[in-house]
Amino acid sequence: MLGLMQDWPLLLHRIIDHAAIQYGGQEIVTRSVEGPMHVETFTQLRTRALQVAKRLEADGIKAGDRVATLAWNTWRHMEIWYGVAGIGAITHTVNPRLFPEQIAWIINHAEDRLMMVDLTFVPLLEKLADKLGCIEKYIVLTDAAHMPQTSLRNAVAYEDWLAEADADFEWQAFDENTAAGLCYTSGTTGLPKGVLYSHRSNVLHAMQACTPASLGVTSLDTVLPVVPMFHANAWSLAFSLPMAGARTVMPGPKLDGDSVFELMDAEGVTMSAGVPTVWKMLLDTMRERGRKPKALKRVAIGGSACPRGMIAAFQRDFGVEVGHAWGMTETSPIGTCGFELRSGAKGLDEEGILDLKAKQGTAPFGVELVITDDNDKHLPWDGKTVGRLKVRGPCITKSYFKEDKPVLDALGYFDTGDIASIDPDGTLCITDRSKDVIKSGGEWISSVQIENIATAHPDVHEAAVIGMAHPKWDERPLLIIVPEKGKSPAREDILGYLEGKIAKWWMPDDVQLIEEIPHTAAGKINKLGLREKFADYKLPTA
Ligand code: AMP
Repeated sequence: MLGLMQDWPLLLHRIIDHAAIQYGGQEIVTRSVEGPMHVETFTQLRTRALQVAKRLEADGIKAGDRVATLAWNTWRHMEIWYGVAGIGAITHTVNPRLFPEQIAWIINHAEDRLMMVDLTFVPLLEKLADKLGCIEKYIVLTDAAHMPQTSLRNAVAYEDWLAEADADFEWQAFDENTAAGLCYTSGTTGLPKGVLYSHRSNVLHAMQACTPASLGVTSLDTVLPVVPMFHANAWSLAFSLPMAGARTVMPGPKLDGDSVFELMDAEGVTMSAGVPTVWKMLLDTMRERGRKPKALKRVAIGGSACPRGMIAAFQRDFGVEVGHAWGMTETSPIGTCGFELRSGAKGLDEEGILDLKAKQGTAPFGVELVITDDNDKHLPWDGKTVGRLKVRGPCITKSYFKEDKPVLDALGYFDTGDIASIDPDGTLCITDRSKDVIKSGGEWISSVQIENIATAHPDVHEAAVIGMAHPKWDERPLLIIVPEKGKSPAREDILGYLEGKIAKWWMPDDVQLIEEIPHTAAGKINKLGLREKFADYKLPTA
């Protein structure tokens, strides 16, 4: 027997309808790409999103078509997301930090028909345009006064394009499993893979983000999404903020410490979210000025491991609470978050709380975590046993765009490629990527943990650990270091520094100093590149 409740598909444009009805006067404030501040309300954003939808239809854009954006966090980018979703089309957020050839590759793979582009990225596209045959029209996100001379095909200023339609439009009705967003992962190996979000998955993910077990945003918050909309859905914020009715402050292109600090200060930002690199810049500014942005209470930090020292600086030195979050493009992306402390926090002193906060937090309803061994056997949550981290839930990828093969195990779990332990209270602790973990004598050594400790050495600028072949142990760790300018720490000095901080058998067999460690487009250490660089190297113990 079926229940007798209404069919009310979970469609993304319902979020902006809700925001306009319940929080109509709430503001979205943007530092525009052109320079000046721009303010509009949720009601105005909804009206313009309806115009976008109508105007897209006039361009012949249909359900399932892909509309690309190459854009910063602004009110216009949000209007596009809702307008595109409202006709059942798909927003493909392109990451401008990818290598140009990769950008061309993913636009062609996605078969994008329109390109919505910020002024900043017009020159980049002009160089690539002859490789982008699928793009019929370039809509430059500006007004006539700021429209540049450009060779881009059928280029038009967004405000002129939008003015050709009014807002007399009804959102289309369709199945909640309809695709709404496309985002490619920037893997270090192989070609990028497209993760295709649905209306349902994005609505549920936004609802998760509003709960205290995740970001916990409310209408009392003023939130600045530093995390760009081209990174995995901006961690839900373009959906969860209107859903919660939170005042929204968009940073546009200026993401340096001073600009973020001043915007937070001027707009009374209470909460923000982004990757550790951005928070390092903000912390430097906070230290220089001897204070935090005046209303700032909470920051979510994730995307790569947040060092304990950064958490200590925010919490202890400036009284800003940190939620360390873990996730990936394939998980929409928030998998776990560390604002909500559970039973494991009971009785801990300040140092103990910082140790706990350095772990990656706990999962909200809808994210099922397990750790397994190589034979898919589920492992205990005892805080010690490490295994492959797998996830299941309504906001987790089951297969990639245009790759018809499912990527789940027999029980429907997605293998994240991360290695982790889980505490009895559900707190996740990521120790490595599975391809980076060092397998020594049948046991696993965490490259990340050694790197975290080594980078705390005053002469070390950056550190990476890779496994090198060893005749007896299979693999042993090699520590690779980029020293601080003008320093050349001795091998014994570095190893001495690690002593007592890691298990004896984790001690690197050697230390090598180099000038530069290769990075991926997403700013993560490129271990594949490092392994190639050290392909001919032999450990002294081998
Ligand atoms: P991406 O899909 O590019 O966002 O990359 C996802 C990967 O980033 C995850 O599988 C993790 O390896 C890593 N990652 C994300 N957040 C964290 C975190 N808080 N701590 C450690 N690694 C993280």
